[in-house]
Amino acid sequence: MTSFNLRQTKLAPGDEHREALEVDLPPFEFGGQRYIPVPEQVSAELVVTRALTGTLFTLSLTARLHGPCHRCLGDAVLEIPIRSREYQAALPDDEELRTPYLEGDELNVSDWARDAVALALPDKILCTPDCAGLCQVCGENLNEHPHVHEATSADPRWAALEALRDEL
Ligand SMILES: [Zn+2]
Ligand SMILES: [Zn+2]
Repeated sequence: MTSFNLRQTKLAPGDEHREALEVDLPPFEFGGQRYIPVPEQVSAELVVTRALTGTLFTLSLTARLHGPCHRCLGDAVLEIPIRSREYQAALPDDEELRTPYLEGDELNVSDWARDAVALALPDKILCTPDCAGLCQVCGENLNEHPHVHEATSADPRWAALEALRDEL
């Protein structure tokens, strides 16, 4: 787990601290499929800014996920740039003014990064934005073998129907 201890900064109001971190990302489950971060460890930048009323945290990183395309099940690679902010009030009397990732002086950067990536996932993960998907009739990959089926003759079931109709 990657974390950051605030005590190492000793920031006065108005001060800013920048820290380069390596963050481990877990595999993500999405739409019943599994997406693996490659590499598992990404470089992130954490900026801690002290204000009079509290502390602002900004985390920036780019996650790269590998997994199946939603349409054709081919390999999809997804780049997800993250820039996430959290705030901790100096005197938080309100849940809204408190980041869930801070425990005492310890900021849990791993959990924060995981949640930020999960939130940034698109509705559908595709190999290319215009992926043609799989053929509804024969299941072939339409990106590799673009084709259309003639509504009648190509499918043997249709041929059988035609034959039946001829007999009637
Ligand atoms: Zn695809
Ligand atoms: Zn087909």
